[in-house]
Amino acid sequence: MQVVCLDLEGVLVPEIWIEFSRRTGIAAFARTTRDEPDYDKLMRFRIGLLDEHRLKLPDIQRVIGGMAPMEGARAFLDDLRTRFQVVILSDTFYEFADPLMQQLGRPTLFCHRLIADDAGRIVDYKLRQPDQKRQAVNALKSLNFRVIAAGDSYNDTGMLQAADAGFFIHPPANVVQQFPQFPVTRSYAELGAAIDAAAQRLASAS
Ligand SMILES: [Mg+2]
Repeated sequence: MQVVCLDLEGVLVPEIWIEFSRRTGIAAFARTTRDEPDYDKLMRFRIGLLDEHRLKLPDIQRVIGGMAPMEGARAFLDDLRTRFQVVILSDTFYEFADPLMQQLGRPTLFCHRLIADDAGRIVDYKLRQPDQKRQAVNALKSLNFRVIAAGDSYNDTGMLQAADAGFFIHPPANVVQQFPQFPVTRSYAELGAAIDAAAQRLASAS
């Protein structure tokens, strides 16, 4: 039995905070872990910024509702799901991802949570667990699944390492340099072919 785990942002949908920054015209939302490596500090900063601009959860969801998955993402995912069970492992938040997941046909998503008060003001966030992508792959393996995973960046490398087969899809050059062990694909067609080949290898090895 095989399961495919895919990252969301940069693989199936645009980077949500960056796109959110573009759509709201508020440049500071584009700040990423490259600018602020302390994730908790970065999230506190973002929550403060939402507050400062009086952006509540429904406003945020309206903005994100105007975004779309990457071109070809839905077709790729639909096709993949005819052959595999697919789990999306993402470091985004359910409240953010929801409008995009709807457009992707609501595949299974494991991610984190934003905490809003009764008025819809974001007051906090809750990680489902630390290092959740790697943990999810290990948990699936403990259920006797073989796992094939694909992602585009640093926060996917734990998941790719833990998986039986792991691939990058259009990753940045510095990530490729640092993690040469993971084969690089550049399109959905290439990734789909790599996943199918890995699935056959894993099936014949077991
Ligand atoms: Mg990503």
